Formats: sequence, structure tokens, C-alpha cells
Amino acid sequence: MNEMEASRGLSKVGSMIWQKLKSLFGGAAAIPEVFREEWIALLEKNVPLYERLPEDLRLCLHEQIGHFIGTVRFEGCGGLELTEDMILTVAAQACLLVVHRGGKPYPKLKVVYLYPSTFSSVMKQVDAYGMVTEGVVHRLGESWGLGTVVLAWDSVSQGARNMADGGNVTFHEFAHQLDHEDGSTDGAPGLPGPGAYRSWARVFQENYDDFLERTEAGRKTVLDSYAATNPAEFFAVATETFFEKPGQLFRKRPELYDEMMRFYGLDPRGWLRPNEHDAKPDQEEGFQESRAGFGK
Ligand SMILES: [Zn+2]
Repeated sequence: MNEMEASRGLSKVGSMIWQKLKSLFGGAAAIPEVFREEWIALLEKNVPLYERLPEDLRLCLHEQIGHFIGTVRFEGCGGLELTEDMILTVAAQACLLVVHRGGKPYPKLKVVYLYPSTFSSVMKQVDAYGMVTEGVVHRLGESWGLGTVVLAWDSVSQGARNMADGGNVTFHEFAHQLDHEDGSTDGAPGLPGPGAYRSWARVFQENYDDFLERTEAGRKTVLDSYAATNPAEFFAVATETFFEKPGQLFRKRPELYDEMMRFYGLDPRGWLRPNEHDAKPDQEEGFQESRAGFGK
């Protein structure tokens, strides 16, 4: 345990629970054989979106959850005692983003730190004259390029349970991880080839510019206004919206939806119940919750 880890107040008991799960998934038995019924019930309760997934996708997700827990360390911080509940809830949401991937779900990710609730983080800013200012910001989550994700459990849990408000800190931070993978955090994750990059760059630039115009004019949009921060946040917020408001995103920004659909290999519109497809058509640009004060 290094100095930074010691200062996080890591819990030994929580670490043991992760070790136990890790050894279970890393054993000789195939993942479907060790994936317990009680975990399925737990995911149905904690992550309502999981219940909507087609059976074949659920089975793929179980596999990815097993690989994820087998390769990424979980640590409870700030006095939080990790439980199976917490580990599986984070892993299920993180793995939904990479459900079709072979190999390690997040090859560069090493550790997930989980705090009980909003945590503080020191942020340094350098102005145009090179003046450095330091301040404490309160965060729901953080994603570091060096293989670390930090999350607040209450936000993870709340984001998972409310599957249609467009806000989900776990999807958000793991989208940043995907964005980091190619070495630059710029709103463009690793894509299959030059054609895919060209198409992604055009669609994202057009949508981002239009989004900035709308938010600057004070108009509400289907994407949370936090997406205006920079292209990386735009991609992370677009990911939250893609999974939580797929019908609205498709209607309002079809090209953006299409790019996301190709990247994730998923079409979450099919997971909604029939009466949810066009729910509140007149309010589809009505979600604009301020996240001021919460870095993500
Ligand atoms: Zn972010």
C-alpha cells in the first residue's frame, strides 16, 4: 500500500471480499457455472437496466463481469466496507459498455476506488500567465488515464437505480476510460480504422458545435449541459444519454446515436418497454440538470 493509498483509508475487509470473488471467477469452473442466482437477483434489484437486456446479452455480461472482477482490483475508501453488492453493481455497469469485447474488458484499468459518497479531490489549475492555483473540488467520480477509476457509491447506486434520467456516473467514468485507451483523452475512443475515425470526427464535431450553440443560447437539450465542458465530457455525457435516453437521443441527434451504436455494438432502444419509446415527446429537450460543483 503506497502513501496515497494509505491516505484513502482503505478497508481490509472489503479487499478480502474482492479477493474472494476474484478467486471464484479465476478458478477452473466456467463463469456461467459460478455466476450465482443470488447475484442475478441482486443485479435485477440494483441495476434495473440489466433486467431489460435480452438473455444472450445478459450471458455475455456475466462473462465480462467475471473477467472484470478477475483483473481489476476493488478498494473501499473513506471507511467504506466493500460488499459483493457494490462490486457487482459497478462491474455490471462498467461491463455493459464493453460487453462485446474479447479479452480483458478494460485492458489498462488496474483499480477501482469506491468512496461512500461525494469525495474531495485537490485540483490544480494553471492560468494563461502560468499562475498555479489549487482548490478542493467535490466529486462523484474520477477517471485517470493511468488505470484508475474513483467512484462515490451513493452516486453509483442512485445512477443505476434511476435508469431513465440521463445521469449515470459509472457509465460516465468508464466512457472516460475508453477514451483514455488510445493515449489521448479527446472524446474519440479507439476506433477500428481511418474511415471510422473520419466519420466519428465529423459527427462529433458537428454535434458538439451545435450543442455549444444551443447551451450558450440557453436552450435545453437532451444532453446534460455538463457536456459543454470539452469534447471528452461530451463523449462521456453522450454515453450516459445513449444508455439512459436512447429514444430521445436517436430522435434529436440520429447521427450521433448511430456512431455510438456502432462503437458500443448495442442499440439500447430495443431494451425499452413499448410505452417508453416515445415517452414525453415534448420534453425530450427538457433535461438540463446542473452539475455545478461536481467534477466528473
Ligand atoms: Zn467527466
